[in-house]
Amino acid sequence: MFRKLPGVGPRQAVRFVLALLEKPEPELREFGSVVQNLKKDVSFCRLCFNISDNHLCSVCSDSRRDQSKMLVVEKVTDLDSIEKTGLYRGVYHVLGGAINPLGGLTPEILKFKELKNRLNKAMAGDKTVELIIATNPNAAGETTALFIVDLLKKESNISVTRLARGLSSGSNLEYIDEGTLKHALEHRR
Ligand SMILES: [Zn+2]
Repeated sequence: MFRKLPGVGPRQAVRFVLALLEKPEPELREFGSVVQNLKKDVSFCRLCFNISDNHLCSVCSDSRRDQSKMLVVEKVTDLDSIEKTGLYRGVYHVLGGAINPLGGLTPEILKFKELKNRLNKAMAGDKTVELIIATNPNAAGETTALFIVDLLKKESNISVTRLARGLSSGSNLEYIDEGTLKHALEHRR
C-alpha cells in the first residue's frame, strides 16, 4: 500500500512497515481509522479547493490576504510549497490536477469554471486582478497554462503572469527547492 503513494520506493515502503511494527497496537488502530475515515473527515475550501476543516480554508478566511492576486496551482501540495516560501500574500485556486485526457483529467473535471466565476467576482466594480499561473513545468502543466490563457484572453482586467523559467522542465513544484521557487515567484512575468 505504501508503494502506491507518490515518491515511495520499495525500500522506503519496507521501512514504513517496520516502523509501524514497532508501534503499540492502539496507535496502529488509530492510524487505520484515520486512513479509513480520510474521505469523510477531510473537506475542501469552498472557494479555492485547498484542504480545510471549515467552509473556508485558512488562506481564504484571512482578511489580510490580497484578493487582487490569485495564484493557480494543480494540487494542494503545490499550494503548500508556495506558502512555505512566505513570499506570496494573495489567494489561491487549486485546479485539482492538470489537463491530461488520457489520464481522465479533462477540462470539465478540473476547477476552471469555478476559477472563471471567482475571477468575475474579483473583477466586480472594474477592479484589476493579477492571475499567476503556477502549473508544473511539464507537458500537462503547460497545456493547462495555455488553456487558462485562452480562457481569459477576452478579459482586459486580468493580467496573467507565470512563474519565471529556470524551473527545470518536466519537474514538479512539489519537489522544487524553496530558493528556486522563490526566485520563480519573484521574477514572474
Ligand atoms: Zn480557500
